[in-house]
Amino acid sequence: MAEPHPQHLPSYLDPANPGPWAIYLEQVDRVTPYLGPLARWVETLKRPKRILVVDVPVELDNGTIAHFEGYRVQHNTSRGPGKGGVRFHQNVTLSEVMALSAWMSVKSAAVNLPFGGAKGGIRIDPRQYSMGELERITRRYTSEIGDIIGPNKDIPAPDVNTNAQVMAWMMDTYSMNSGRTTTGVVTGKPVSLGGSLGRVAATGRGVYVVACEAARESGIEIKDARIAIQGFGNVGGTAAQLFHEAGAKVIAVYDHTGVVHNERGLNVPALQNYVHEHGGVAGAPDADTMTPKEFWSLETEILIPAALEGQITRDNADLIHTRILVEGANGPTTPEADDIISAKGTMIIPDVVANAGGVTVSYFEWVQDFSSFFWTEQEINHRLEAMMRSAYGSMSKVAREHSVSLRTAAFIVACSRILEARQVRGLYP
Ligand code: NAD
Repeated sequence: MAEPHPQHLPSYLDPANPGPWAIYLEQVDRVTPYLGPLARWVETLKRPKRILVVDVPVELDNGTIAHFEGYRVQHNTSRGPGKGGVRFHQNVTLSEVMALSAWMSVKSAAVNLPFGGAKGGIRIDPRQYSMGELERITRRYTSEIGDIIGPNKDIPAPDVNTNAQVMAWMMDTYSMNSGRTTTGVVTGKPVSLGGSLGRVAATGRGVYVVACEAARESGIEIKDARIAIQGFGNVGGTAAQLFHEAGAKVIAVYDHTGVVHNERGLNVPALQNYVHEHGGVAGAPDADTMTPKEFWSLETEILIPAALEGQITRDNADLIHTRILVEGANGPTTPEADDIISAKGTMIIPDVVANAGGVTVSYFEWVQDFSSFFWTEQEINHRLEAMMRSAYGSMSKVAREHSVSLRTAAFIVACSRILEARQVRGLYP
């Protein structure tokens, strides 16, 4: 990784350990040569617009007082209000939240949503706390960041270890403080509170749609295509189901309990039921088991990492034999692994487009909350598919024009859109 230019590292990050923000800066440097005259504005992308660090004090169930560090970073709002999740994790750092907020700017712009990028987090291991404690922590955090969020300012959503219940508490706290019920302040809410139909399956559906686009471009028939998926949760499970319904063969699934494999194709609905009952794929009938190494070595048309970040590294990249790799998870492929796999001619659909289905339906949720008029699931899926296809098409066109990877192309599309907005708005004053 290139050393970040000292001028670009804010004084509050440790130059010896700049964290994920340095990875993001390197990605911006890579696309700068393709930005033409807009490169004049590129520094905008290297500085978050606003960073808020808050103390979150709470009385615990045992009567003691605990303090947690909370963050909300708004990376860029040139194209619209900030948008991005809130993460509860003991390892959350400012550098991580900054980088995640910037990647949200890129993701929103790559899919052409009228949003900027933001992210929030609390440095806490939520498993150590009761529901009551988590509710008080969430409400105090929401109050502390209340001045800078809002349906026209910055709209949080669930992320690692936060869910629809946490969003309901955030929405209620914001509404109590502002004196009016404001459903549009967060997305990923329960449907009973202005949440959107289709949100749960949205990311997996988006993964399926872009994979089909890439397959079509590569002359691969989805029917009978061999698919391997790591992660059988919200994203991987939904994508598996859609591929199965389309007649593809999901030949292997790898989750936290192990790998199941059937060269003739797994019975995905039966596997869903099995996982529901047993908590994981291990021991599922009509399948053989294999090691993770054997999983990564499978010959497939489409491989979908949809579990965790950093799963495909220089240690297993050489094993991979697939035509199309679709990044359902965020950051599943390290930059070194990306180089190794791309050199084999494998097409990699980057996370910022591949898993943008979730934020796209969050956008629909926000629009529905504003108009207090709710769409059918069929309408949502139809609009989602159109936006994902369009995002894929813009990225693919730029990749061909500049002979660059789809990842670089997605960044070119997104950064150009953000900087065009910045340029026409001009600098105030
Ligand atoms: P999930 O918790 O529903 O499912 C995670 C899956 O990963 C499970 O099947 C689990 O068994 C598997 N897994 C966990 N640890 C594993 C390990 N060590 N080895 C193999 N498998 C393992 O999560 P999700 O919502 O499906 O999210 C998956 C990924 O997609 C994450 O990177 C997430 O950030 C990303 N993502 C999710 C959404 C969304 O809307 N849910 C949106 C964008 C990106």
